[in-house]
Amino acid sequence: MRQPDPTHLPFSLAALGHDFAPATPDRDSPGTPGCWIILRENGLVLCRDGLGLPDGVLPVAGPFAVPPVLVGFWQGRPLRAARLEPEAGLPAGLMAVSASYRNQALDDRLITLAGLARQVLHWRDRSRICPACGGSPGEIAGSFGARCPSCTREYYPRIHPAVIVLITRGEEFLLVRKADWPAGQYGLVAGYVEFCETLEECVVREVMEETGLAVTDVRYLASQSWPFPSQLMAGFAATCAGGELVLDTAELEAAAWFSAERLPPVLPPRASIARALIDRFAPGLGGAIENP
Ligand SMILES: [Zn+2]
Repeated sequence: MRQPDPTHLPFSLAALGHDFAPATPDRDSPGTPGCWIILRENGLVLCRDGLGLPDGVLPVAGPFAVPPVLVGFWQGRPLRAARLEPEAGLPAGLMAVSASYRNQALDDRLITLAGLARQVLHWRDRSRICPACGGSPGEIAGSFGARCPSCTREYYPRIHPAVIVLITRGEEFLLVRKADWPAGQYGLVAGYVEFCETLEECVVREVMEETGLAVTDVRYLASQSWPFPSQLMAGFAATCAGGELVLDTAELEAAAWFSAERLPPVLPPRASIARALIDRFAPGLGGAIENP
């Protein structure tokens, strides 16, 4: 079972431990052996024997949707990521498994490495063409930045801040449901930070927009990188200060007050900060409900 403590969630350096080191200013030497995070659609390519990362020289022939990128070092060796085209085949010794954070058969380190690769490859894919002049930016050594040789503009990875909030009312907490979530699953109000807005102001606005409720005593608790494709989730608790529960039906299909004694059929996956915030408010939930 995953630890509910937010500091031990996947998609963090802590989840990778001392085996991982970020990329250094050195340029990669593409022909040298290393470890590989190969993605194909929503799958992560692992060795059939032992279900570990492929090791050695480039283990797949392509075609590649995004060619290999150095993302760091794993146990002292180059760690590269690449995305295959959906139709790409795999050698007999490799197989693809679901890289979803909902896949509880995959340990936190592999979920985190797949997320890191997804985020880096998404950025690399989106920075191929200079939006100012249509040129072809090249890598800036030692970073994930890109510099356009035609107009010299530089671009750096975009990470989008968002808030996620547990709204409390005494012993109860408000959970909401989006129509496209798995059957029976409830989660937390969340939304993107807008221009000229603090994280706390974003919490107050999102809660009002989505539920019609006013909140006060907005308290930061923890954060989680969320590589789907490139968010940073800032987790808060806030106290309900009144108002009438009126849903924004463009965003939500249901909302209700729950408690540790009265829970929805399905809680958010254990890999998510949403679940960690709920567990933190209502300790003892761990294991009470199984997730898909
Ligand atoms: Zn340019």
